[in-house]
Amino acid sequence: MALTILLNGAHGRMGQAIASAAPQMGITVGAATDLGDDVAAAARSVDVLVDFSSPQATKGLLEAAAAAGKPVVIGTTGHAPGEKAELLRLAAQIPCVWAGNFSVGVNLLFALTGRAAQALGEDFDAEVVEMHHRMKKDAPSGTAERLLEIILEARGLERGALRHGRQGIAGPRARGEVGVHSLRGGDVVGDHTVVFAGSGERLELTHRASDRAVFAHGALRAAQWVAGQKPGVYDMQDVLGLA
Ligand code: NAD
Repeated sequence: MALTILLNGAHGRMGQAIASAAPQMGITVGAATDLGDDVAAAARSVDVLVDFSSPQATKGLLEAAAAAGKPVVIGTTGHAPGEKAELLRLAAQIPCVWAGNFSVGVNLLFALTGRAAQALGEDFDAEVVEMHHRMKKDAPSGTAERLLEIILEARGLERGALRHGRQGIAGPRARGEVGVHSLRGGDVVGDHTVVFAGSGERLELTHRASDRAVFAHGALRAAQWVAGQKPGVYDMQDVLGLA
């Protein structure tokens, strides 16, 4: 039977991209909600809730999904690290795919970054550079955050190793530091580069998204997948079978 979704953040850029991609994938947007709408009431009449809105909406959306017994797909980014831990506990009670990036290419970039960070070791300085359109609210992007987590994990480093941007005379680069830089401008959909710079050589892994449809297709694929899962928090690696 065709899947019916609730789309939260329906008036936004991603909301519109998902609404236009849904029919090609045999998915119906049964409820389109945005600021001020009652998600809890609308949740009862759909199969899966899909959220691309703002971090403030996530708690209410997860509570509505749990109350209605419906799986969710969360694409919203920009949650504070402390806040996210609490939300993940709530999300674990229902089948939930939570991903900072739904593109297939970026999910391969995640795997390649982990491999490179391990293989190259700390003699290669790691930096993440991202660029997005001028309207993006959070920085660094959710994708950059995930890339940073992967590098920290691979190298056994804590979040204290992160260096957001650089200014003034800060002295030479500290060994083990992981830099992150956010560029904003124009209509850039999403670019991410991970740089591993050693002595005499440099490796750069770059992904560029040029159409929001890639995130929309990934999110809808996640909605189809999560409809048949047990409660738990999954990411796009699980959906794509890369985990
Ligand atoms: P946008 O600003 O164009 O749209 C957001 C929409 O959400 C707006 O219509 C706004 O009115 C609505 N909204 C805000 N607060 C709300 C609330 N409390 N309840 C319901 N609706 C609310 O933003 P966008 O570019 O569509 O991005 C939306 C989110 O998705 C951002 O967090 C962005 O970083 C994220 N995003 C994720 C991916 C991914 O692959 N995971 C890809 C692109 C964007």
